[in-house]
Amino acid sequence: MVKAVVGANWGDEGKGKITDMLAEKADIVVRFQGGANAGHTIVNKYGKFALHTLPSGVFYEHITSVIGNGVALNIPILFGEIKSIVDRGVPAPKIMISDRAQIVMPYHILFDQYEEERLAGKSFGSTKSGIAPFYSDKYAKIGFQVSELFDDELLKEKVERICNIKNVTLEHLYYKPLIKPEELLDTLHEYREMVAPYVGDVSTFLNDALKNNKTILLEGQLGTLKDPDHGIYPMVTSSSTLAAYGAIGAGVPPYEIKQIITVCKAYSSAVGAGAFVSEIFGDEADELRRRGGDGGEYGATTGRPRRMGWFDCVASKYGCRLQGTTDVAFTVLDVLGYLDEIPVCVGYDIDGEVTTDFPVTYKLEKAKPVLKTLPGWKCDIRGIKNYDDLPKECKDYVEFIEEQIGYPITMVSNGPGREDIIYRQSKLSK
Ligand code: GDP
Repeated sequence: MVKAVVGANWGDEGKGKITDMLAEKADIVVRFQGGANAGHTIVNKYGKFALHTLPSGVFYEHITSVIGNGVALNIPILFGEIKSIVDRGVPAPKIMISDRAQIVMPYHILFDQYEEERLAGKSFGSTKSGIAPFYSDKYAKIGFQVSELFDDELLKEKVERICNIKNVTLEHLYYKPLIKPEELLDTLHEYREMVAPYVGDVSTFLNDALKNNKTILLEGQLGTLKDPDHGIYPMVTSSSTLAAYGAIGAGVPPYEIKQIITVCKAYSSAVGAGAFVSEIFGDEADELRRRGGDGGEYGATTGRPRRMGWFDCVASKYGCRLQGTTDVAFTVLDVLGYLDEIPVCVGYDIDGEVTTDFPVTYKLEKAKPVLKTLPGWKCDIRGIKNYDDLPKECKDYVEFIEEQIGYPITMVSNGPGREDIIYRQSKLSK
């Protein structure tokens, strides 16, 4: 069967930890979208790792880690990451790269930088990993598919053709050095050498695995609110962050996705620009940022301080609905143990009207949070294994949020490690 692990919010919800944990009882973990622009932080017996491209199952010897066709594949980063984990004692992972995945080209990264420079104060806060130029080219049908590396004639002709297009923009929009086709071709030949042993027909592999009753995890990057269709457009990412896209980005039938585990963090954080209704500032934000996650809320890719906020029931209800959530994994709850009282955003006030429906972006910009304050539990809940052993205020917080979002919280994460998880029966489970 196929299970998806996806985010309800702006990303950084703790999907890496949940995937790493669920991978113990799975066979294959697939990345189905996005690229090296976001990172997952995973803590396990080998240490603490920030992964950008590798699926979060790479730490288990029994797992095959798959880069699906929907991914923006940065080949040097992928191989650098494999080397960095092996150098730290992790057994060499079994990797399969889809022959239909497309390649992040060196010029995509440059175009990302040049465009942010050009936009200056109006920039999107891109991580400058080349993701938007990459997906633009994919849909403009001028991207390079991994399979094309293996057709010499096609590759040479295409490199010439694409350089002509790119060089016009480089010369006349950005005033930057031009790309030399010979150099680009050499780079692509190096890429071919690197990927050759790992390339395969992923959808056939996954469909065969399903016939043999294997368990496949689809690992999403970022969260619903960064989805290009359903998120806070245009402050979104360039590939769909939804579980439904997992079927496309991996190549499995949509009806095989039996469980959709949507990860929600017990408070909010976001990176990059865009409306963030429950955002907090000043000392209050600094303290939550410092205590948050595992060692503070700073971007795994950029090191940038994340923007912080209270839990947003409106955004999370919407985030869970668009994912098609069967289970909510509610993470990083332990971090809130220092607060006397915990505000939660339960509605948006837009021009004097209160709503619990997540609006389109221009209305979202005007929304003010309607907060309800719940009592804190004022203790450390790490190490607790049974839901009933949590303090009453803590259970009340979980149950209040479950009621507001309307999806069953069946897992509560109370620490960064694999074993820091509390399973819970929910009356909302189907
Ligand atoms: P992802 O991109 O969704 O995988 O999320 P990140 O890795 O960016 O952020 C999650 C951060 O929180 C990481 O540093 C995790 O180690 C940490 N983390 C995950 N779950 C928990 C938890 O329940 N408690 C604490 N304290 N940290 C957690």
